[in-house]
Amino acid sequence: MKLVFLGPPGAGKGTQAAVVSKEYRIPHLSTGDMLRSEVAAGSQLGASIADDMQSGKLIADETISSVVAHRIALPDAAAGFLLDGYPRTVGQADFLESLLGSAKLDLAIELVVDPTVLIERIQRRAATALAAGGAVRADDNIESLRKRLSIYQTQTAPLTEHYQRKGLLFRLSGDAPVSDLSHEIIRRLALLRAW
Ligand code: AMP
Repeated sequence: MKLVFLGPPGAGKGTQAAVVSKEYRIPHLSTGDMLRSEVAAGSQLGASIADDMQSGKLIADETISSVVAHRIALPDAAAGFLLDGYPRTVGQADFLESLLGSAKLDLAIELVVDPTVLIERIQRRAATALAAGGAVRADDNIESLRKRLSIYQTQTAPLTEHYQRKGLLFRLSGDAPVSDLSHEIIRRLALLRAW
């Protein structure tokens, strides 16, 4: 099963993706996590993207698409995968399609959440991480968040129509409790499997 998760920062993509990944035993591929590892490791790629990530900008399509192409070529993704945070532009979606060829995507799952709720959630995520003595993401501050939301609206939101036209879109409100959302997604995926 080949899936992509769409939704603005704080929509709950990571949480739902983790549930689906466990249920279907497919790797959960978060491009944000992959890039944060590069930054933490101090690799050449990490050094070149750290500033853009911190300020909430997208990194270049060619850069992220090459990271994704390498990752999904690994053996654990042969039977399927779940992409969280990719594609984020129509150019990335086109690249993914050309990469997959006949092994098409099964579904694009979009979580829709009101921007004011997102700002509250992200601030809570940062406060909880701090209280637990953990690290706060470099881009979990109000300035970067506003930038990430505005980039989402201009560059990523067009993917809703893109996947709708292809008959691949499953859109649901991300405001529901986490377990209700997981049930709804898993019920939808079971329909795919039944075909
Ligand atoms: P995330 O954890 O998905 O919110 O991603 C954190 C940051 O990583 C984003 O704000 C971007 O700077 C970068 N990033 C992650 N995925 C992509 C992508 N598909 N295209 C461009 N930049 C990305």
